[in-house]
Amino acid sequence: MSDPSSEARHVVVLGAGPAGLATAHELSRLGAQVTVLERNAYVGGLCRTVDYKGYRFDLGGHRWFSKNEDLNRWFRRLMDGELVDVDRISRIFHDGTYYQYPIQIADVARKTPPLVMARAALSYAKATVQYDLLDRDIRHIEDAFKAQFGGRLFEMFFRQYTEKVWGRPCHQLSADWVSQRSKGLSITGVLKDALKRGSTASSSLIEQFMYPRDGYMRIAERLAEDVSAAGNTVQLGASVTGIDYHGPNQFTVRYEDENKTPGEQAATDVVSTLPLGGLARMLTPGCDEAVHEAAAALTFRDLITVNLIIDRPQVSTDTWLYVQNRDIVFGRIHEPKNWSPALVPESNRTSLVLECFCFRDDALWQSDDDTIARRCIADLADHLGLIEPHEAVDWCVVRTPNAYPIYDLDYADRIATIRGYLDGFEGLEIAGRGGTFRYNNADHSIEMGLLLARSMLGYGGDHMAVNTETTYQETIDEADSQAQHRRAADAA
Ligand SMILES: Cc1cc2nc3c(=O)[nH]c(=O)nc-3n(C[C@H](O)[C@H](O)[C@H](O)COP(=O)(O)OP(=O)(O)OC[C@H]3O[C@@H](n4cnc5c(N)ncnc54)[C@H](O)[C@@H]3O)c2cc1C
Repeated sequence: MSDPSSEARHVVVLGAGPAGLATAHELSRLGAQVTVLERNAYVGGLCRTVDYKGYRFDLGGHRWFSKNEDLNRWFRRLMDGELVDVDRISRIFHDGTYYQYPIQIADVARKTPPLVMARAALSYAKATVQYDLLDRDIRHIEDAFKAQFGGRLFEMFFRQYTEKVWGRPCHQLSADWVSQRSKGLSITGVLKDALKRGSTASSSLIEQFMYPRDGYMRIAERLAEDVSAAGNTVQLGASVTGIDYHGPNQFTVRYEDENKTPGEQAATDVVSTLPLGGLARMLTPGCDEAVHEAAAALTFRDLITVNLIIDRPQVSTDTWLYVQNRDIVFGRIHEPKNWSPALVPESNRTSLVLECFCFRDDALWQSDDDTIARRCIADLADHLGLIEPHEAVDWCVVRTPNAYPIYDLDYADRIATIRGYLDGFEGLEIAGRGGTFRYNNADHSIEMGLLLARSMLGYGGDHMAVNTETTYQETIDEADSQAQHRRAADAA
């Protein structure tokens, strides 16, 4: 890297989602010159909150939760006066029955025939022998779930939902997703917890989280406000089309504005939060065939979000409701009013937000908005019995490409191939969810951005270590939290 001092730099950040804005925020605080280029007419990326006739909704309810207490303090300062605490009350809908989520043994036992419970116990014992004692390989997500829960509970609670979210059979998905998301969640853990607490709530899973009163997008808006106040620029409607590398720390970033008028921005450093595969294909000098193939094969699951306005004050007390059955079009529901009453303008009405996981070439994505909304309403009424069809009085449908990076069995090799190519561009960094092709939550993307900014200006730290912990992200473990805290402090 050339001169690491802040004055000599002009950093161009690609993308104004949480990762890009957190990078720009920290660089601005440390005195660097920054320009953020964002394709959309709004900031926030996937952390967008849509306003439809005063009904505000996230693309799927976003909660703030981090085990890093330094980061939580930073977050509270950023969002001072705007946060509400939300109780997490969630359920799973599986084959006509509602179960509490996180899964509680007493609840499952009460609602499941004894024979099925006995089979579940047997299959768990079998999995323990196979995976723990005989050390059977964990080849894919199916093995990973079975090793933790046994075959029967995997079939009951994990196969359908996983395949619905990812659109792929479980044996084609990498086990890494389970190790990032549910390590530490196991039958023994759930049982121990149930015994400790008299089979009531699970102490090891979070029960409350922070949320910005006016929607999750406020986080990105607050970051952008501070970047602008520091004299730096967040340019909206600027779609990046190419990056020319002239030598170490010498770049030209090319983009088009809303009117397709081309523009250019010189940079000493480029931080990309754009989808990793797309970035590899934007650079000059260009990549070879192997990198090109790896880039094209990194794929995402897309998302349709349906916001229904419901003519009654409240539908349920749930924070989230996970809907497993394949024949139901949506996979998850949330009711924004339960997160913050400020998200709904009329006290006698509420809204429901339904997430439909799909691919861009699916018939569902291609359908018109009314067809999608009517299908959702019919499923809500007929399968879940949550509303009467006539109560859904209005709707808004939002399509979001590139919502979930798909961890197939070769994704890690592909990332390594692409990163090998990117290493040849001195002054180019990647961060964020699509940017690193990592299943980040917003807090991970923000932490990455903060650490990256500090390391770029010579304060050390490794932003690529974020979200590689093998502990379950939602488990409140004091020792681990302190270790993370120390690591973050060391990195700073
Ligand atoms: C349904 C759903 C629910 C979620 N729930 C939670 C939750 O409860 N809690 C949580 O913490 N996280 C949650 N997340 C994850 C969270 O949304 C992401 O982790 C976060 O938004 C990632 O931020 P990012 O900046 O890394 O990427 P992004 O948000 O994807 O931002 C990337 C930005 O780059 C821009 N861009 C792309 N291409 C170009 C281009 N060519 N030129 C210019 N700009 C470009 C995009 O428009 C976007 O603004 C959820 C995600 C989804 C989809």
